[in-house]
Amino acid sequence: MRKHAPQEPAIDLSPSPGDEVKTTTCYMCACRCGIKVWLSDGRIRYIQGNPDHPVNQGVLCAKGSAGIMQHYSPARLDKPLLRVGERGKGEFREIEWDEALRIAADWLAPIRERNPDELAFFTGRDQSQALTGWWAQQFGTVNYAAHGGFCSVNMAAGGLYTLGGSFWEFGEPDWEHSRYLMLWGVAEDHDSNPIKLGLGKLKASGAKIVAVNPVRSGYGAIADEWIGIRPGTDGLFAFALIHELLKADRIDLDYLVRYTNAHWLVIRNPDGADDGLFARDGEGRALCWARGLPDRASQGRAHPADAIDIAPAVVGEYSLPDGRRAVPVFHLVAERYLDPQYAPDAVSERCGIPAETIRRIARELAEAAFEHAITLPIAWTDAYGRQHSEMTGRPVSMHAMRGISAHSNGFHTCRALHVLQLLLGAVDTPGSFRYQPPFPKPIPPPNRPGKTRQPNGALDAAPLGFVHSPEDLVVDANGQPRRIDHAFSWAYPLSAHGMMHTVIRNAWAGDPYKIDTLMMFMANMSWNSAMNTGETIGWLTDRGEDGEYRIPRIIYADAYASEMTAYADLVLPDTTYLERFDAISLLDRPISDADSASDAIRHPVVDAAQQREGRDVRGFQSVLLELGARLGLPGMVHDDGSPRYRDYADYIVRHERAPGVGLLAGWRGEHGELEAKGPPNPQQLQRYIDNGGFWRSHVPESARYYKMANRGYLDWAQKMGFIGHADPIVLQLYSETIQKFRLAAQGHGAQQPPPEHRERVATYFDPLPIWYEPFEGAQVDQVDTKFPLSAVTQRPMFMYHAWGSQNAWLRQIVARNYLYLHPDTGARHGIADADWITMESHHGRITVQARFAANVQADTVWTWNAIGKRRGAWRLDKDAPESRKGFLMNHLISDITPKGDYANADPVTGQAAWFDLRVSIRKADAEQNARGESEPQFAPLAFAQAEPGPLRYGAEFRARRAGGKHEQD
Ligand code: SF4
Repeated sequence: MRKHAPQEPAIDLSPSPGDEVKTTTCYMCACRCGIKVWLSDGRIRYIQGNPDHPVNQGVLCAKGSAGIMQHYSPARLDKPLLRVGERGKGEFREIEWDEALRIAADWLAPIRERNPDELAFFTGRDQSQALTGWWAQQFGTVNYAAHGGFCSVNMAAGGLYTLGGSFWEFGEPDWEHSRYLMLWGVAEDHDSNPIKLGLGKLKASGAKIVAVNPVRSGYGAIADEWIGIRPGTDGLFAFALIHELLKADRIDLDYLVRYTNAHWLVIRNPDGADDGLFARDGEGRALCWARGLPDRASQGRAHPADAIDIAPAVVGEYSLPDGRRAVPVFHLVAERYLDPQYAPDAVSERCGIPAETIRRIARELAEAAFEHAITLPIAWTDAYGRQHSEMTGRPVSMHAMRGISAHSNGFHTCRALHVLQLLLGAVDTPGSFRYQPPFPKPIPPPNRPGKTRQPNGALDAAPLGFVHSPEDLVVDANGQPRRIDHAFSWAYPLSAHGMMHTVIRNAWAGDPYKIDTLMMFMANMSWNSAMNTGETIGWLTDRGEDGEYRIPRIIYADAYASEMTAYADLVLPDTTYLERFDAISLLDRPISDADSASDAIRHPVVDAAQQREGRDVRGFQSVLLELGARLGLPGMVHDDGSPRYRDYADYIVRHERAPGVGLLAGWRGEHGELEAKGPPNPQQLQRYIDNGGFWRSHVPESARYYKMANRGYLDWAQKMGFIGHADPIVLQLYSETIQKFRLAAQGHGAQQPPPEHRERVATYFDPLPIWYEPFEGAQVDQVDTKFPLSAVTQRPMFMYHAWGSQNAWLRQIVARNYLYLHPDTGARHGIADADWITMESHHGRITVQARFAANVQADTVWTWNAIGKRRGAWRLDKDAPESRKGFLMNHLISDITPKGDYANADPVTGQAAWFDLRVSIRKADAEQNARGESEPQFAPLAFAQAEPGPLRYGAEFRARRAGGKHEQD
């Protein structure tokens, strides 16, 4: 013990923040960091990062710390609510849980009996899709999805149909070895702390970081170079880089032939039913043109493409034994991207990037990849049995997110980035992008969307999945959509995450049919999660000629008095994330990193019995299981009809998706002796709690790279249950799956698109990535040239969705948003800093306050996402800055294209094209400037406001420390 001189005060430099600490998983954004929650007398005192946790290694962000105020938010719901006033007014009466569950069951039981598709069940930023998707499957409705359709599906589908893995939080740059990182449209929400840690490592190692983004914020602020690209042109920029690399012959052909389909032969038979398909032998194996075989050294011949020790041709046209002509995939790649339309000079102006910059970036990528190859002394065996004494890689990595994907050309842009990576030999090698287990998966992943109802009423598979060919679409005999959101239809065939952004309009319009009940969880669809917010509010409240609501019933589960809560008929109040069990499952969105498979839990760190008087909330997942039991859904009841699961915690432990496979992979088996597969372990949750809330299993060292073709990895992944078989995964530069849709549109095959979709499918289902003008810009330019600017939102580091912008501590960082524009843009439009301006799109008009900021490309304006609030929502003061001065850009964003023919979405995946928005700006009139208030304003919701006065926290803790004197809260 340190001795103090008599005059020195004894200061405790590390006071214990509380009398008890519990480890769990943060839910203040999608990153899922490990946290240590300190309690004092059962109340949450302090949250810190868990240094032992694989995701964040102790790092905590502002949002994570502010979880305390999320838990004690005045906006929390207290009891189940039954609507008493008009829908949308926010007038309810409190009811008990038994009544709430009885009402819900009474509404849902006849639907299941009559037609389960009359229930549309959609969840928002839910982290329990392994449960909710299964529940929908057991209910038997095809109408289920989470929020991925308006968030990330272009990235997911672009990756999974190309690499068998993807960016977002399913892959990561090799932070240890990368020398050059390109960040494309990356926001600071998903994978937030791992990226911060990784960027720190790259900075320390001297690697170059290039941020490609119209706005320089967040990670871009510390990048070595910012490329202020025009929104929606990233694919064009990627093609120009590919063009330069091809021209300079800076391509890793060895990598391409070993790991991709670069050498596979594509049949050339214009107008034929096999045009563009791979040439295959009688056993279905893809063929290549093998040169230098001992039997016919001079001319070569068609040969199975997966054979080793052959020298396949990558260019040229060849005759197959049956006389058909075929060319290798790489030939098509070179043919397309060497075209002068992709030269830097040709794309420079459209992208807003000087041609010389494009050429330089291409040179830098090539130099990093080929002059600085990394070799690690790790012996490994490839999937074909060849042994290698070391692992060599290209230290170029890429990471991309919503800025790329939230466009109507996003799917192809994501594929373009992956083709660029593959040409550089920079996928899952030392120094490059790396898969995180359970990825890579076979391409496409084997699970197809469920669409057939079984005798017990359940679907044959979960409603979401991956379409392999037109036969997998969820359409009726006439090729029309069977889902309320039109996902997996000819309009949006590869919509692997569903299309939540179309549900409310379609449910209102009865397109393709009327539903009875809309059930939603954590999705603020009447406000910041809606495109076309104003009309969405109208659809939620509109009545038919019979006087009844057109969407007859709405059940909504949320922890807070959000804008959407006001539009429910029945509200099921959820807990906060510190009060319940959750599984962050390998069956859903795991927390793995490239070197280990991991999953995690949440568990109640505060005692539910200590809810303040009158508050009686339940975790939605447990409620769902109880509802399922009341409905007698398969898998949720015993033969005698009694509930199979006590609650979600019980389900997490005992439910088996397949024999031995459950939501959690750690400590399986009767005594917790097994991992990944094994019988349920009654003590499993306790084992997680004892281990800090997570489980982790390391990838064997010899399996760390080349996962798609590494024998050690593939065998390990099969043993862990990540893949069904251990065959190598060949990466798909050219997508035959996509070509099958084009062929159907050209009149081939049993399943063909209806006439109205043929041209669209034929155009956008190109087996190699293409670039086209985002739809909104292309269509408004045709009819009207008055929208010269792009408008985008950025997600701030300090807030996540609407729930973060009501948090008392985070509101002290920002309590309203501005429209940010470059000073040159302001000058061009006669706007001064801090002016109130009118902002207009083809769809709507809003009034907002402008601020100048030089961190934005001059043809783009931007604002922070989801800060504007409706008056009366979230129990904020009725004059809160969020509603008086804050605003939503959503009012300008239409949910359909300007032509009105399709959803405002990608034509391949249906991803919402939020960032296609085109606007004009002008100074608002004098009266609006004098009023200083954003427009539009809506009638305040009738939720009770929180107690007036500042919301303070911690006074009682300080008082206790000070010796019992109790300060006033
Ligand atoms: S990054 Fe996200 S999950 Fe991690 S501490 Fe911050 S809010 Fe929590």
